[in-house]
Amino acid sequence: MKAVAVTNKKEVEIVEVEAPVARHGQVLIKIHSCLLCTWEQRIFSGESSMTLPFIPGHEAAGEIISIPDETITTFKVGDRVVFKTLDDCGHCSFCYQGFNNLCSGTPEKRVYSNIGSSGGLAEFIAMDVGKVFLVSDKIPYTHAAFTEPLACCVHSLKRVNPDFGETVVVIGAGIMGMLHLKLSLLRGCRVIVIEPREDRRKIAEKAGAHFTVDPINDNAELIVKDITDGLGAEYIFFTAAKSFIAEAAVKFLKKMGTIVYYGSFHPNDPISIDPNAIHYGEYVITGSYSPSIVDFYTASRLLSNNLIDVKEFLTEEWNISDAQKAMESAIDPDTFRVAINF
Ligand SMILES: [Zn+2]
Ligand SMILES: [Zn+2]
Repeated sequence: MKAVAVTNKKEVEIVEVEAPVARHGQVLIKIHSCLLCTWEQRIFSGESSMTLPFIPGHEAAGEIISIPDETITTFKVGDRVVFKTLDDCGHCSFCYQGFNNLCSGTPEKRVYSNIGSSGGLAEFIAMDVGKVFLVSDKIPYTHAAFTEPLACCVHSLKRVNPDFGETVVVIGAGIMGMLHLKLSLLRGCRVIVIEPREDRRKIAEKAGAHFTVDPINDNAELIVKDITDGLGAEYIFFTAAKSFIAEAAVKFLKKMGTIVYYGSFHPNDPISIDPNAIHYGEYVITGSYSPSIVDFYTASRLLSNNLIDVKEFLTEEWNISDAQKAMESAIDPDTFRVAINF
Protein backbone atom coordinates (compact mmCIF):
# COMPACT_ATOMS: atom_id res chain seq x y z
CA MET A 1 0.00 0.00 0.00
CA LYS A 2 0.96 3.63 -0.32
CA ALA A 3 1.86 5.62 2.77
CA VAL A 4 3.24 9.08 3.55
CA ALA A 5 6.55 8.89 5.39
CA VAL A 6 8.46 11.79 6.89
CA THR A 7 11.97 10.92 5.71
CA ASN A 8 13.94 14.03 6.66
CA LYS A 9 13.42 17.43 8.21
CA LYS A 10 10.67 19.09 6.09
CA GLU A 11 10.61 16.18 3.61
CA VAL A 12 7.95 13.59 3.00
CA GLU A 13 7.91 10.73 0.53
CA ILE A 14 5.20 8.45 -0.77
CA VAL A 15 6.47 5.00 0.14
CA GLU A 16 5.24 1.57 -0.87
CA VAL A 17 4.93 -0.62 2.24
CA GLU A 18 3.39 -3.96 3.14
CA ALA A 19 -0.34 -3.58 3.87
CA PRO A 20 -1.61 -4.66 7.31
CA VAL A 21 -3.64 -7.85 7.71
CA ALA A 22 -6.66 -7.81 10.03
CA ARG A 23 -6.38 -10.46 12.75
CA HIS A 24 -8.90 -12.01 15.12
CA GLY A 25 -10.96 -9.20 16.68
CA GLN A 26 -9.97 -6.68 14.03
CA VAL A 27 -11.41 -5.16 10.87
CA LEU A 28 -9.53 -3.85 7.84
CA ILE A 29 -10.23 -0.23 7.00
CA LYS A 30 -9.50 1.67 3.79
CA ILE A 31 -8.50 5.17 4.90
CA HIS A 32 -10.10 7.96 2.87
CA SER A 33 -8.87 11.05 4.65
CA CYS A 34 -6.35 12.03 7.31
CA LEU A 35 -5.83 15.47 8.89
CA LEU A 36 -2.42 16.85 9.79
CA CYS A 37 -2.36 17.65 13.50
CA THR A 38 0.28 19.63 15.41
CA TRP A 39 1.99 16.33 16.24
CA GLU A 40 2.51 15.54 12.51
CA GLN A 41 3.62 19.12 11.94
CA ARG A 42 6.28 18.82 14.68
CA ILE A 43 7.59 15.57 13.21
CA PHE A 44 7.70 17.18 9.75
CA SER A 45 9.42 20.35 10.91
CA GLY A 46 12.03 18.43 12.93
CA GLU A 47 10.85 19.65 16.37
CA SER A 48 10.10 16.11 17.49
CA SER A 49 12.69 13.49 18.47
CA MET A 50 10.92 10.82 16.39
CA THR A 51 13.20 8.37 14.56
CA LEU A 52 12.82 8.87 10.82
CA PRO A 53 11.49 7.62 8.49
CA PHE A 54 8.11 7.58 10.23
CA ILE A 55 4.57 7.31 8.87
CA PRO A 56 2.46 9.69 11.00
CA GLY A 57 -1.29 10.43 10.99
CA HIS A 58 -3.85 9.82 13.73
CA GLU A 59 -6.88 11.94 12.74
CA ALA A 60 -8.34 9.70 10.06
CA ALA A 61 -11.59 8.33 8.69
CA GLY A 62 -12.37 5.52 6.29
CA GLU A 63 -14.49 2.56 5.36
CA ILE A 64 -14.45 -1.07 6.52
CA ILE A 65 -13.40 -3.17 3.52
CA SER A 66 -12.98 -6.61 5.05
CA ILE A 67 -13.75 -8.50 8.24
CA PRO A 68 -11.97 -11.80 8.94
CA ASP A 69 -14.30 -14.74 9.75
CA GLU A 70 -12.88 -15.03 13.24
CA THR A 71 -13.86 -11.46 14.15
CA ILE A 72 -17.29 -11.44 15.79
CA THR A 73 -18.81 -8.01 15.23
CA THR A 74 -21.91 -6.11 14.12
CA PHE A 75 -19.75 -3.96 11.82
CA LYS A 76 -20.34 -4.60 8.13
CA VAL A 77 -18.18 -4.17 5.07
CA GLY A 78 -18.90 -0.68 3.73
CA ASP A 79 -19.47 0.93 7.17
CA ARG A 80 -18.01 4.42 7.41
CA VAL A 81 -15.87 4.66 10.49
CA VAL A 82 -13.34 6.61 12.51
CA PHE A 83 -10.81 4.93 14.76
CA LYS A 84 -8.51 5.58 17.68
CA THR A 85 -5.02 4.86 16.38
CA LEU A 86 -3.08 5.92 19.48
CA ASP A 87 -2.97 2.61 21.28
CA ASP A 88 -3.09 1.65 24.92
CA CYS A 89 -2.13 -1.58 26.68
CA GLY A 90 -5.60 -2.46 28.03
CA HIS A 91 -4.29 -3.85 31.33
CA CYS A 92 -2.58 -1.11 33.34
CA SER A 93 -4.13 0.68 36.30
CA PHE A 94 -5.33 3.55 34.06
CA CYS A 95 -6.70 1.34 31.28
CA TYR A 96 -8.64 -0.78 33.82
CA GLN A 97 -10.27 2.36 35.17
CA GLY A 98 -11.26 3.67 31.75
CA PHE A 99 -8.56 6.34 31.61
CA ASN A 100 -6.82 4.72 28.66
CA ASN A 101 -5.61 8.17 27.52
CA LEU A 102 -3.16 7.99 30.46
CA CYS A 103 -2.04 4.38 29.78
CA SER A 104 1.20 3.62 31.61
CA GLY A 105 1.75 0.24 29.95
CA THR A 106 3.42 -0.73 26.71
CA PRO A 107 1.04 -0.59 23.77
CA GLU A 108 1.75 -2.65 20.67
CA LYS A 109 3.76 -0.70 18.09
CA ARG A 110 2.61 -0.36 14.50
CA VAL A 111 5.33 -1.07 11.92
CA TYR A 112 4.96 -1.22 8.13
CA SER A 113 7.94 -2.71 6.24
CA ASN A 114 10.27 -1.70 9.11
CA ILE A 115 8.90 1.85 9.24
CA GLY A 116 7.22 2.91 12.48
CA SER A 117 3.76 4.41 12.12
CA SER A 118 0.80 5.83 13.98
CA GLY A 119 -1.30 4.49 11.10
CA GLY A 120 -3.29 7.43 9.73
CA LEU A 121 -1.27 8.42 6.67
CA ALA A 122 -1.48 5.06 4.92
CA GLU A 123 -4.04 3.49 2.61
CA PHE A 124 -5.16 0.76 5.01
CA ILE A 125 -5.24 0.08 8.72
CA ALA A 126 -6.18 -2.99 10.76
CA MET A 127 -8.00 -1.97 13.94
CA ASP A 128 -9.45 -3.75 16.99
CA VAL A 129 -13.26 -3.42 16.78
CA GLY A 130 -13.36 -1.73 20.22
CA LYS A 131 -11.41 1.22 18.83
CA VAL A 132 -13.58 1.70 15.74
CA PHE A 133 -16.62 4.00 15.74
CA LEU A 134 -19.43 4.29 13.20
CA VAL A 135 -20.02 7.69 11.61
CA SER A 136 -22.96 8.99 9.63
CA ASP A 137 -22.76 8.71 5.84
CA LYS A 138 -24.17 12.25 5.76
CA ILE A 139 -20.82 13.77 6.71
CA PRO A 140 -17.78 13.64 4.42
CA TYR A 141 -14.70 11.66 5.48
CA THR A 142 -12.76 14.92 5.82
CA HIS A 143 -15.23 16.07 8.52
CA ALA A 144 -15.42 12.66 10.20
CA ALA A 145 -11.62 12.82 10.56
CA PHE A 146 -12.14 15.65 13.07
CA THR A 147 -13.33 13.04 15.59
CA GLU A 148 -9.87 12.74 17.16
CA PRO A 149 -9.19 16.47 17.73
CA LEU A 150 -12.80 16.94 18.87
CA ALA A 151 -12.43 13.97 21.24
CA CYS A 152 -9.36 15.65 22.79
CA CYS A 153 -11.50 18.73 23.49
CA VAL A 154 -14.45 16.65 24.74
CA HIS A 155 -12.01 15.12 27.22
CA SER A 156 -10.90 18.58 28.30
CA LEU A 157 -14.51 19.77 28.82
CA LYS A 158 -15.36 16.60 30.75
CA ARG A 159 -12.41 17.20 33.10
CA VAL A 160 -14.40 20.10 34.58
CA ASN A 161 -17.98 19.80 33.24
CA PRO A 162 -18.98 23.46 32.75
CA ASP A 163 -22.70 23.96 33.33
CA PHE A 164 -25.57 26.23 32.17
CA GLY A 165 -24.96 29.94 32.65
CA GLU A 166 -21.35 29.62 33.77
CA THR A 167 -18.57 31.65 32.18
CA VAL A 168 -15.75 30.03 30.26
CA VAL A 169 -12.60 31.79 29.06
CA VAL A 170 -10.90 30.15 26.08
CA ILE A 171 -7.34 31.34 25.58
CA GLY A 172 -6.14 30.90 22.01
CA ALA A 173 -8.41 30.61 18.97
CA GLY A 174 -6.58 28.00 16.92
CA ILE A 175 -8.51 24.87 16.03
CA MET A 176 -8.43 23.56 19.62
CA GLY A 177 -9.61 26.88 21.05
CA MET A 178 -12.44 26.95 18.49
CA LEU A 179 -13.56 23.42 19.40
CA HIS A 180 -13.48 24.32 23.12
CA LEU A 181 -15.63 27.33 22.25
CA LYS A 182 -18.20 25.22 20.39
CA LEU A 183 -18.36 22.55 23.11
CA SER A 184 -18.73 25.20 25.85
CA LEU A 185 -21.63 26.75 23.94
CA LEU A 186 -23.29 23.31 23.77
CA ARG A 187 -22.95 23.19 27.55
CA GLY A 188 -24.93 26.43 27.85
CA CYS A 189 -21.99 28.59 28.86
CA ARG A 190 -21.10 32.19 28.19
CA VAL A 191 -17.76 32.18 26.38
CA ILE A 192 -15.01 34.80 26.26
CA VAL A 193 -12.27 34.08 23.70
CA ILE A 194 -8.87 35.71 24.15
CA GLU A 195 -6.82 35.75 20.95
CA PRO A 196 -4.33 38.24 19.50
CA ARG A 197 -5.24 37.66 15.81
CA GLU A 198 -8.14 39.75 14.61
CA ASP A 199 -9.17 37.28 11.86
CA ARG A 200 -9.36 34.48 14.42
CA ARG A 201 -11.40 36.64 16.79
CA LYS A 202 -13.85 37.27 13.94
CA ILE A 203 -14.17 33.51 13.29
CA ALA A 204 -14.72 32.94 17.02
CA GLU A 205 -17.48 35.59 17.02
CA LYS A 206 -19.12 33.94 14.02
CA ALA A 207 -18.91 30.60 15.82
CA GLY A 208 -20.87 32.11 18.73
CA ALA A 209 -18.32 33.57 21.18
CA HIS A 210 -20.14 36.08 23.40
CA PHE A 211 -17.03 38.24 23.79
CA THR A 212 -13.62 38.31 22.17
CA VAL A 213 -10.60 40.08 23.61
CA ASP A 214 -7.32 41.20 22.04
CA PRO A 215 -4.71 40.53 24.76
CA ILE A 216 -2.03 42.66 23.07
CA ASN A 217 -3.92 45.94 22.77
CA ASP A 218 -6.48 45.52 25.55
CA ASN A 219 -6.24 44.72 29.22
CA ALA A 220 -7.71 41.22 29.14
CA GLU A 221 -7.77 40.84 32.92
CA LEU A 222 -9.82 44.02 33.38
CA ILE A 223 -12.19 43.09 30.56
CA VAL A 224 -12.83 39.59 31.96
CA LYS A 225 -13.40 41.06 35.44
CA ASP A 226 -15.75 43.64 33.97
CA ILE A 227 -17.79 41.06 32.04
CA THR A 228 -18.04 38.87 35.15
CA ASP A 229 -18.98 41.63 37.64
CA GLY A 230 -15.52 41.58 39.16
CA LEU A 231 -15.63 37.85 39.92
CA GLY A 232 -13.71 36.15 37.10
CA ALA A 233 -14.62 33.07 35.08
CA GLU A 234 -15.52 29.65 36.45
CA TYR A 235 -13.34 27.91 33.87
CA ILE A 236 -10.34 28.70 31.74
CA PHE A 237 -9.27 26.48 28.88
CA PHE A 238 -5.73 27.37 28.00
CA THR A 239 -4.92 26.29 24.42
CA ALA A 240 -2.08 28.67 23.57
CA ALA A 241 0.93 26.33 24.21
CA LYS A 242 3.11 29.20 25.48
CA SER A 243 4.12 28.95 29.12
CA PHE A 244 4.88 32.67 29.54
CA ILE A 245 1.18 33.43 29.19
CA ALA A 246 0.08 30.33 31.11
CA GLU A 247 1.05 32.03 34.36
CA ALA A 248 -0.95 35.21 33.76
CA ALA A 249 -4.06 33.22 32.75
CA VAL A 250 -4.81 32.20 36.36
CA LYS A 251 -5.76 35.84 37.05
CA PHE A 252 -8.97 35.45 35.01
CA LEU A 253 -10.32 32.82 37.43
CA LYS A 254 -13.21 33.20 39.83
CA LYS A 255 -12.67 31.81 43.34
CA MET A 256 -13.11 28.01 43.22
CA GLY A 257 -12.55 28.23 39.47
CA THR A 258 -10.55 25.73 37.42
CA ILE A 259 -7.90 26.29 34.79
CA VAL A 260 -7.25 23.47 32.32
CA TYR A 261 -3.85 23.50 30.63
CA TYR A 262 -4.83 21.87 27.38
CA GLY A 263 -2.14 20.76 24.97
CA SER A 264 1.60 20.59 25.48
CA PHE A 265 3.90 23.58 25.92
CA HIS A 266 6.64 24.48 23.46
CA PRO A 267 9.01 25.60 24.87
CA ASN A 268 8.17 24.08 28.23
CA ASP A 269 9.51 26.82 30.51
CA PRO A 270 8.51 26.47 34.15
CA ILE A 271 5.95 28.93 35.54
CA SER A 272 5.65 30.26 39.07
CA ILE A 273 2.48 29.95 41.10
CA ASP A 274 1.31 31.98 44.06
CA PRO A 275 0.43 29.34 46.69
CA ASN A 276 -1.52 31.89 48.73
CA ALA A 277 -3.68 32.74 45.74
CA ILE A 278 -4.54 29.03 45.47
CA HIS A 279 -5.11 28.80 49.21
CA TYR A 280 -7.41 31.82 49.48
CA GLY A 281 -9.10 31.33 46.12
CA GLU A 282 -9.44 27.53 46.23
CA TYR A 283 -8.38 27.47 42.61
CA VAL A 284 -7.98 24.18 40.78
CA ILE A 285 -5.15 23.82 38.26
CA THR A 286 -5.29 20.78 36.02
CA GLY A 287 -4.43 19.49 32.58
CA SER A 288 -6.02 17.50 29.81
CA TYR A 289 -4.21 14.92 27.74
CA SER A 290 -5.51 12.93 24.78
CA PRO A 291 -8.97 11.34 24.59
CA SER A 292 -10.22 8.11 26.14
CA ILE A 293 -12.44 5.64 24.26
CA VAL A 294 -15.53 7.28 25.81
CA ASP A 295 -14.49 10.73 24.56
CA PHE A 296 -13.88 9.31 21.09
CA TYR A 297 -17.36 7.79 21.01
CA THR A 298 -18.88 11.10 22.20
CA ALA A 299 -17.01 13.04 19.51
CA SER A 300 -18.16 10.61 16.80
CA ARG A 301 -21.79 11.22 17.91
CA LEU A 302 -21.37 15.02 18.04
CA LEU A 303 -20.15 15.03 14.43
CA SER A 304 -22.51 12.35 13.10
CA ASN A 305 -25.55 14.01 14.67
CA ASN A 306 -24.54 17.43 13.35
CA LEU A 307 -24.22 18.95 16.80
CA ILE A 308 -20.77 20.31 15.95
CA ASP A 309 -19.94 21.64 12.52
CA VAL A 310 -16.28 21.61 11.56
CA LYS A 311 -16.37 22.65 7.90
CA GLU A 312 -14.89 26.11 8.54
CA PHE A 313 -11.86 24.45 10.15
CA LEU A 314 -10.98 22.32 7.13
CA THR A 315 -8.71 24.83 5.41
CA GLU A 316 -7.36 22.69 2.55
CA GLU A 317 -7.57 19.23 1.03
CA TRP A 318 -4.75 17.59 -0.94
CA ASN A 319 -4.38 14.29 -2.69
CA ILE A 320 -1.74 11.89 -1.33
CA SER A 321 0.46 12.65 -4.36
CA ASP A 322 0.75 16.24 -3.05
CA ALA A 323 1.66 15.18 0.50
CA GLN A 324 4.74 17.44 0.54
CA LYS A 325 2.63 20.52 -0.31
CA ALA A 326 0.00 19.45 2.22
CA MET A 327 2.61 19.25 5.01
CA GLU A 328 4.08 22.62 4.08
CA SER A 329 0.62 24.10 4.15
CA ALA A 330 -0.18 22.47 7.50
CA ILE A 331 2.76 24.18 9.24
CA ASP A 332 1.59 27.58 7.98
CA PRO A 333 -0.02 29.27 11.02
CA ASP A 334 -2.83 30.55 8.78
CA THR A 335 -4.31 27.06 8.32
CA PHE A 336 -6.58 25.31 10.81
CA ARG A 337 -6.52 21.74 9.49
CA VAL A 338 -5.18 20.41 6.22
CA ALA A 339 -6.41 17.02 4.97
CA ILE A 340 -4.66 14.41 2.84
CA ASN A 341 -7.11 12.29 0.87
CA PHE A 342 -6.38 8.81 -0.43
ZN1 LIG B 1 -4.56 15.16 16.92
ZN1 LIG C 1 -2.64 0.81 29.75
